[in-house]
Amino acid sequence: MDFSLTDEQRLIQDTVRAFVDERVLPVAVENDIAHKLDLSLIEGMAELGLLGIVIPEEYGGAGLDFVSEALSCEEIERGEAAFRTLISVHVGLNSLSLLRYASEEQKQRWLTPQARGEKLACFGLTEPAAGSDVASMRTSARREGDVYVLNGQKNWISYATVADHALVFAKTDPGAKHKGISAFVLEKGMKGFTSRDTEHKLGIWAGSTGELFFENVEVPAENLIGEEGQGFEIAMYSLDQGRFTVAAGACGVIRVCLERSVEYARERETFGQPIGKYQFVQDMIAEMVLGYETSKLLVMQAAWLKDEGVRNTRETSLAKWHATESAFKAAHLAIQVHGAYGYSAEYGIERYFRNARAPIIYEGTTQIHKLMQAEHALGLRKLNGRDGAISPIAAWGPALLAREPGPPVAAG
Ligand SMILES: Cc1cc2nc3c(=O)[nH]c(=O)nc-3n(C[C@H](O)[C@H](O)[C@H](O)COP(=O)(O)OP(=O)(O)OC[C@H]3O[C@@H](n4cnc5c(N)ncnc54)[C@H](O)[C@@H]3O)c2cc1C
Repeated sequence: MDFSLTDEQRLIQDTVRAFVDERVLPVAVENDIAHKLDLSLIEGMAELGLLGIVIPEEYGGAGLDFVSEALSCEEIERGEAAFRTLISVHVGLNSLSLLRYASEEQKQRWLTPQARGEKLACFGLTEPAAGSDVASMRTSARREGDVYVLNGQKNWISYATVADHALVFAKTDPGAKHKGISAFVLEKGMKGFTSRDTEHKLGIWAGSTGELFFENVEVPAENLIGEEGQGFEIAMYSLDQGRFTVAAGACGVIRVCLERSVEYARERETFGQPIGKYQFVQDMIAEMVLGYETSKLLVMQAAWLKDEGVRNTRETSLAKWHATESAFKAAHLAIQVHGAYGYSAEYGIERYFRNARAPIIYEGTTQIHKLMQAEHALGLRKLNGRDGAISPIAAWGPALLAREPGPPVAAG
């Protein structure tokens, strides 16, 4: 088992770390307070190739591996969650799905400009009445000659108002539950397709969250991705990719909370000595160390499976659940280590706390991930979905051969 990074992986880690130190962190608190999405930093990410990091070079991407993607997400979220969110929706949820399910012509048309960072993309799955329960979505797509007519609404969509393209899921067969969902690329400017920002949310103030509205939008049939009825499968594949970036980004939150807490605990004195000398403070530091290293191991396990081309739904779900919960806990503890200063916007610690909350909700809530893990363990769902493969270090796996799988449980 080799835990070392290649020269190429170290280079991308160093490069993204320097970008975050020089450009993201110096303006992070200011942009957060101002609720400002800094597009110049997105341009900087595009120049570094981050908007197509794991997309092959033939489609305009950087052609790097999933370990590099994880390292980049960790560095980026150490700076600002809003920009890791962009990698999650643009690369993870959207571009990787196009890479797998789109036709060659569709890839040239949408994937290549996305991977080059010339166009931004979002992912429209969630609706007001359908989050975890994807199959209950109401947005409809009715075939009429050469077009599908879309009607409905999506909410809580990251980069909804900023993106040029959206991968949108709609029911082509309303009676067929998850088998009646299809996926379409919608382009901004299509008649009847509008968007709006979501105001007053707990965190990610320097990012973008919004709604998508479809009012008799005539979407050309050539914008259908994959087959009619394949949308649920595409959405679940997308989530395997997006969740991985969420988990990797969470490692960045834990790391920055740990680093800043260690630094502060060495300097801040009470009762004549640095607070780091007190065991109660050491306990908080130790919890962060545990959270960081266990999260990182789970993320790297998932990265390895992805790079091997092995189905990793279970391992990615485990990494996402554990890393996002650990990040929120680390941010909570970091505030405590910093005392009242941790509570102040100026110190920038409370920003990590607010921003670490949403990842416990999106791309599968913690409860959905617990349910997935338990169902895998109990044999109620096929190990790792369809393929039945499991990480080689999960020694209990072979003893738990899947029995008849139950109905699919989604998780937007
Ligand atoms: C900041 C932010 C950005 C987002 N970005 C996107 C995006 O880009 N694209 C997109 O499509 N969506 C996005 N979402 C939406 C997100 O994916 C959903 O909020 C999420 O899937 C949960 O759905 P819900 O909010 O409807 O909660 P619900 O599904 O209604 O769940 C409510 C509660 O019930 C629990 N619950 C539900 N079902 C079960 C069950 N079977 N067993 C046990 N407990 C259960 C949940 O865990 C939760 O605690 C975003 C959300 C946020 C907050």
